[in-house]
Amino acid sequence: MLKFISFGSGSSGNSYFLYTETDGLLIDAGVGVRALKRHFKEYGLSLSNVKNILVTHDHADHVRCVGNLSRDYDIPVYATERVHQGIRNNYCVKCKISPERTKIIEKGSTFQINDFTITSFGVPHDSTDCVGYQVRYNDVCFVVMTDVGHVTDEMKPFIASANYLVIEANHDEEMLLRGSYPKHLQQRILSDNGHLSNYNCGVAITENATPELKHVWLCHISEDNNHPELARKTVEQVLRSHGIIAGTDFQLEVLRRKIPSEIYDLV
Ligand SMILES: [Zn+2]
Ligand SMILES: [Zn+2]
Repeated sequence: MLKFISFGSGSSGNSYFLYTETDGLLIDAGVGVRALKRHFKEYGLSLSNVKNILVTHDHADHVRCVGNLSRDYDIPVYATERVHQGIRNNYCVKCKISPERTKIIEKGSTFQINDFTITSFGVPHDSTDCVGYQVRYNDVCFVVMTDVGHVTDEMKPFIASANYLVIEANHDEEMLLRGSYPKHLQQRILSDNGHLSNYNCGVAITENATPELKHVWLCHISEDNNHPELARKTVEQVLRSHGIIAGTDFQLEVLRRKIPSEIYDLV
C-alpha cells in the first residue's frame, strides 16, 4: 500500500505525508507540531510513523516546525545544502536541526530512502533554494512541485512522469492585480521566482501530462488572491480547451489551506 495525506497547503503551513505499512515520508514541516500530532491521531497515525522528512525550501510556511519535529521524534531531514543553510538562518525556525540529522542532497540527484527512490529537481522561487521531488515506490510515481515561479524545461519531464501530481495553483492573476496587495508584493508573486497562477498551472498540466496521470492535487492556494473553486475551474477550462477532461482523464482536486485532506490510496 501507499497512501497520501495533505495536512495543510498554503502560506499558513505546508505538510504532505506519503506512507506505507512500515515507512513514512513527510514532505515539508510547516504545520505546527501540536496540530500535526492531533491530525495524525485523527487518522489513526502517530508522528512516530514519520521516518524521514524532505524539505522543498526554507520559507517559514514549509519549515517552521522542522527542527522540533526532527528533535522530538529523532527524524533525519533531507534538503539541499543551501536549504539547510537557509533553515539555520531562518529566525522563524526556533529549534534547529542537529548535525547528525542533517542530510544533504544534491539538486537533480536520485537517492534512496528505504523503498522510496527519490529524485529532486530545481524549482525557481525566491527562497535560498527550492526543489521539487519525484518519489517512486514500486511502479508508482508521485511528484510534488510547490512554490513555483514558473515551470522550467527541467521540471516538465517530472510532470510527464507523474501518476500522482501535487502542483501549485497559487493565484488568479486578475484577483491578485485587483486585490489589496501592494504593488511590490504583486510583482514578487507574478515574477519568474514567485508563485504559479491557476492559468499557468493549467497550461503546465495540459502540455506535459501523459495518459499515466491518475490524480492531480492543486496546492498552495492563496487565501486573498484565489478561491478553491476558481482554481479548479480555471485549470479545468485550460485542460478542456485542449480536449482533456478532468474527472475522466484523471481526477482533479484542490488541497485546502488548513483542513487536512482525506486519505488517498495510491496503491
Ligand atoms: Zn510556501
Ligand atoms: Zn515559498
